[in-house]
Amino acid sequence: MSETKAPSNFIRQIIDRDLSEGKNDGQVVTRFPPEPNGYLHIGHAKSICLNFGIAESYQGACNLRFDDTNPEKEEDEYIQSIKRDVEWLGFEWAGEVRFASNYFDRLYELAVELIEKGLAYVDSLSPEQIAEYRGNFTTPGKESPYRDRSVEENLALFEKMRDNQMEEGEAVLRAKIDMQSPNINLRDPILYRIRKKVHHQTGDKWVIYPMYDFTHPLSDAIEGITHSLCTLEFEDHRPFYDWVVENTSVAASPRQYEFARLNLNYTVTSKRKLKQLVDEGHVDGWDDPRMPTISGLRRRGYTPASIRHFCESVGVSRADSVVDMAMLEAAIRDDLNQHAPRAMCVMNPLKLVIENWEEGKEESLTAPVHPQNETMGTRQVPMTREVYIDKEDFREEANKKFKRLVLGDRVRLRYGYVVRATDVVKDASGEIVEIRCSYDPDTLGKNPENDEGQGKLRGVIHWVSASKGLPCEVRLYDRLFTVPNPGKVEEGQSFQDNINPESLKVLSGCWVEPGLRGVLAEIRYQFEREGYFCVDKSSSEDKLVFNQTVGLRESWPKDS
Ligand code: ATP
Ligand code: MG
Repeated sequence: MSETKAPSNFIRQIIDRDLSEGKNDGQVVTRFPPEPNGYLHIGHAKSICLNFGIAESYQGACNLRFDDTNPEKEEDEYIQSIKRDVEWLGFEWAGEVRFASNYFDRLYELAVELIEKGLAYVDSLSPEQIAEYRGNFTTPGKESPYRDRSVEENLALFEKMRDNQMEEGEAVLRAKIDMQSPNINLRDPILYRIRKKVHHQTGDKWVIYPMYDFTHPLSDAIEGITHSLCTLEFEDHRPFYDWVVENTSVAASPRQYEFARLNLNYTVTSKRKLKQLVDEGHVDGWDDPRMPTISGLRRRGYTPASIRHFCESVGVSRADSVVDMAMLEAAIRDDLNQHAPRAMCVMNPLKLVIENWEEGKEESLTAPVHPQNETMGTRQVPMTREVYIDKEDFREEANKKFKRLVLGDRVRLRYGYVVRATDVVKDASGEIVEIRCSYDPDTLGKNPENDEGQGKLRGVIHWVSASKGLPCEVRLYDRLFTVPNPGKVEEGQSFQDNINPESLKVLSGCWVEPGLRGVLAEIRYQFEREGYFCVDKSSSEDKLVFNQTVGLRESWPKDS
C-alpha cells in the first residue's frame, strides 16, 4: 500500500495493515514530540526521519509538538534550535508548531472528568510517602488513606490546587487504578502536581502542571495522531497511555508503538550529559563540531542528506544496538566525495622556491572542480615562483615507497609542472625552512614518466601559491571521547573522565588557494589529499576558518 521507496520496517508494516483494514479513515498522522530542554542530537534525527518520513510516504501529516509540561527546564533558545534543526533536515511539520501547553485547559477538564467518574483522587501524602507507598518490583504498592475521598471533596481540593491555595508538595492528583499492579506505572500514577513556576508559554496562568504520561496520550488524541511512535523505554507506559485514552472523552484513539533508540559509540546521546559538556565548558557550545547534536554535525560539515541516509541505513527495529560512529562518518564521506568541490590547502607550510621561474611571473593553471564530474566545471589556480607545500611532503632522503618530494628527485605539483628539488635552506637549529628547486616548462599536462635519464617521477603533491594564496585556520577534530561507551563508568568516575583531551587541534598559518576568497559558512570542500572540510561560522573575509568534517579514508584521523 505504501508508495514509499524507503526501506520497510515493522512500523510501516503495521501502518500498511491498518490502511488495508480501513482504520483511521485511511489517515496517517504522526508527531515528533521533543521536550525543549536541550538541543536535538543524532538520536532525535532517527525519530524525526521516522515520523516525518512516514508522513511523507503515506501522504499523511506529521506535527511538531513541544512537550512542555515541565516549566523549570525549558527555554525558548531550545525551541528555536529544534525548529531550525527539523527544517534544516528538510522536513515540514503540518500547520503551526504545537505545544502540549496549548491543551492545558482541555487537560484540566479531562482531569475533572476522571474525578467525576471516580477514577482520580487528590492525595495528601507527602512526596516521600507516595514513593514509599508505591512499592517496587518485588513489593506490591499500598493504598493511600486518601484514596477513597468523595468526588465532591476531590473536586474541591483539585480546585484549591489550581487556585493557588496549596503549597508545592502538599497534594497531587492521582489516577485511581491498581496499587497491586505488577506494572508500577499503573499504581495510581500522578496526573497533576503543584509547581509555582512561570511557564514559557502560559506565563503564570497555572500553578499546577500535568504529568508527561497524562499529557502525552491526550495531546496525541486531541491532534488526531494515529500512530504515536516512541522509544522502547515507554513500552511499560503503554498500558497507562491506553487507560487515559479509554477513560476520557476524547474522540480519537491513537496507538503507541515503540522502537529501539539509536546509540552511537564514542559519544553520548543524552541531553542531560550534552548540557553538562556545554555548561562545564568542555566544548564550545551546543553546536561545537565535536558534539553529536544536529547543529554540531551541521557546523562540522554534515549535510541533511547524509544524516537522513544514515538514519535510513540504521533502520527501525525493536532490538537495542550500538551503531559504529564509522557508519555516520561513511555517510558524509560518500556524500562529499560525490558532491564537494575540490581545493588545495597546505596545512603545515614549507616554502618551495622555483629558481628558474621568472620573478613576478604568474600563470593561471586550469583544474577541474571535481575530477569525476565534468559538469561542475573548472577552476583557475595561480602558479608563482614561490609556493607552499606541506612539510610532510618533503624529505631530504627517502626510499622508493615515499611518493612525495625528495632532495634530488622529481614530483608534479598538482595540475601544474614537474619540479626537481635541488637544495634546502636550514635555520640555525638545522630545521629546513625552504626548498630550492627547478621546474621543467615542458611538463604541463604531459607525462614525463619515461624521459630518459630523468629518474622516476615520485608522485603528485598539492601546493598553494605563496604570494596569491589565502592564509587560513584549520581545525582538526578527533572523537570527543576516548572509549566506545563513555557513559559507562566505574564507581567514583564520571563520563567526563572519558573526554579525549586531544579532540581539537587548531592549525593556524595554513594556506588555501585564492579561489576560496569570501566563502560563506557551511560551504564544504574536499581539500585534495587531506580530507573534507567546511567553512566555520566564525570564518570571515580576513580570517578564513575551516572545520575538518571527515578524513578521506576510514582510518581517520591518526594514520592516514
Ligand atoms: P534525552 O534522553 O536525550 O533527553 P529524550 O527522549 O528525553 O532524550 P525527548 O525530547 O523527550 O528526548 O525526545 C523526543 C523524541 O525523540 C521522543 O519521541 C524520543 O523517543 C525520541 N528520541 C530521543 N532520543 C532518541 C534516540 N537516541 N533514538 C531514537 N529516538 C530518540
Ligand atoms: Mg524526555
